[in-house]
Amino acid sequence: EAEIPADHPRHDSLVTRHRVEAGVEKGITSRQGLIAQGRGEAFDYLLGERTIPSADAAARAAAAHLLLADHPVVSVNGNAAALVPAELVALADAVGADLEVNLFNRTEERMRAIAEHLRDHGATGVKGLAADARIPNLAHERAKVDADGIADADVVLVPLEDGDRAAALSDLGKVEIVIDLNPMSRSARVADVPVVDNILRAIPNITTHARELADADRPTLERIVGEFDPEATLAAAERAIRDG
Ligand code: ATP
Ligand code: MG
Repeated sequence: EAEIPADHPRHDSLVTRHRVEAGVEKGITSRQGLIAQGRGEAFDYLLGERTIPSADAAARAAAAHLLLADHPVVSVNGNAAALVPAELVALADAVGADLEVNLFNRTEERMRAIAEHLRDHGATGVKGLAADARIPNLAHERAKVDADGIADADVVLVPLEDGDRAAALSDLGKVEIVIDLNPMSRSARVADVPVVDNILRAIPNITTHARELADADRPTLERIVGEFDPEATLAAAERAIRDG
């Protein structure tokens, strides 16, 4: 990774690829995660590998939601853990959120490897291993969450979530923030706040907004949340893809 020059025109793409590959080697990311990465990369290319203005506004709304929440939880899967472990810990610290490991292809071994990887990057009290609650309307293995984690949360940030599970979470009435480079994916479409951006840029950007808004009063945060329009955000991303 160190040998990729910062001004390389495909810098983010190359960094992302290397980190996901390393994640697979470490047993953090599934091989399915490589395929998900390939999809994401195609959309990032079409978006110009940059944070478009509508994605920045979404990141700000996401930060406001997380700061307003009684119990925010940041869900972590194998790709997220491989790509932005320290950045996830920094975000959780900035907004007072729990981190919960939550896998589509759940194995106890990967759950533990990801929790350990997050702790290596400064996390304390990583959730997801208790698996003592279920998201309704999903098959057993895919439904597992922690009773004092995602099951109890009022605001959940789910990077790169599978469409089915994203829909099941939003059916529970939780505020759902999704990071997904594909504005047409089901996950992005069911989100209260779709952040159409590379997780590599989106997580640090949400943290930056959260730090800027740390001293804002509730009416200010509520106004930011209230003014956010998910449909307009997805439409802006589609336009950015089409018009280059
Ligand atoms: P569904 O319509 O059910 O949501 P999907 O097409 O999203 O299905 P997956 O391949 O499981 O199916 O999802 C991977 C998603 O994650 C893709 O939408 C892809 O754009 C997105 N993605 C992959 N890598 C990144 C990344 N680094 N940052 C942000 N999003 C990413
Ligand atoms: Mg999806």
